[in-house]
Amino acid sequence: MGDLPVQALVPEVPYHMVWLATDACTARCWHCSSNSAKRSPDELDTGEAKALIDELAEAGVVDLGISGGEPLLRRDIMEVMRHARDRGMSFGIASNGAKLAPRRAEELAELGLGRLQVSLDGFAEEHDSLRRWPGLFARVLKTIATARAAGLRVHVCCTITRLSADRLEDFTAFLAETGIRRLNLSRFVPTGRGTAALDPGDAAWRGIIIRCAALKRAYAGRMEITTHLAQEALVDPDVMAMPVFAGCQAGRGQGCVTANGTVLPCVLLPLALGNIRQKGFRRIWAESPVVRELKDRSRLAGACGACGLRERCGGCRALAYARSGNALGEDPRCWTMQERPARLLQ
Ligand code: SF4
Ligand code: SF4
Repeated sequence: MGDLPVQALVPEVPYHMVWLATDACTARCWHCSSNSAKRSPDELDTGEAKALIDELAEAGVVDLGISGGEPLLRRDIMEVMRHARDRGMSFGIASNGAKLAPRRAEELAELGLGRLQVSLDGFAEEHDSLRRWPGLFARVLKTIATARAAGLRVHVCCTITRLSADRLEDFTAFLAETGIRRLNLSRFVPTGRGTAALDPGDAAWRGIIIRCAALKRAYAGRMEITTHLAQEALVDPDVMAMPVFAGCQAGRGQGCVTANGTVLPCVLLPLALGNIRQKGFRRIWAESPVVRELKDRSRLAGACGACGLRERCGGCRALAYARSGNALGEDPRCWTMQERPARLLQ
């Protein structure tokens, strides 16, 4: 298959941004990509956070994912979210789920929080060991119940690691029974505190990605299942049939702003593009050579650069960077490399 002319569909500004509201967290997860622990002294204050939201909204960003750290630890988080709502943005919050008082859940629902995403990285054994917090799994289930009782839409994010990879089907069935309507199966990327020891191994990912696609099909209509965009077109004919699908969205349809205002192309790709204290978001994004390169797949190197599917996939840029230090390098989990040149390199 030759390259498809989808360059025109690359958005000028991302439609989705993640804001890491704080570095403070009550957990010390083994795989944390943000290396969170304590509040950093240079975090954006309330006025700066609101100004950031203004800039994002004015630039055309439509959805904001508020993460961390544990964003609910920020004292001003309700005020900042109210500001996002008043600016017409859709927004959600990602929490470790350790604690949610009924009153707080009601306040979040009254505020119009679009989604509460909690992390569950498998059943109790896997989750509590990865999050280094015995009893956390049970606490998250309690948070889910509290949130649902308040009328909040609850999503689960599960990072697939060596600990959870074998039981994805059972775990997904468990979540469906719990009433979860959306599950993000996030592929582990060894960044932040995450070490290679948690990785199921390059050879295992083909099977895992195929199983994620099968789960997505099996639960269609009951639970929405999302996963990383790289390689999705390879395993899902419906995705391949979507002419606008362009795979990895780092530096394209999504980006991230850290607790101190540093802009990144993706929450898992720690390449600083600039800081909103020095330059406005729109200028950082428009002038960044990294963003320019990520938008242009002809700049990719190695197997991804030579791949006929690069416009539909692009490989996970965060994984390429984590493994080689080159965000434009090849995605080492891709199995098509072993199959070349016969089928895909045409
Ligand atoms: S770099 Fe990886 S995690 Fe980030 S958008 Fe691309 S595929 Fe997703
Ligand atoms: S070589 Fe890269 S662009 Fe091609 S299918 Fe594999 S990960 Fe995707």
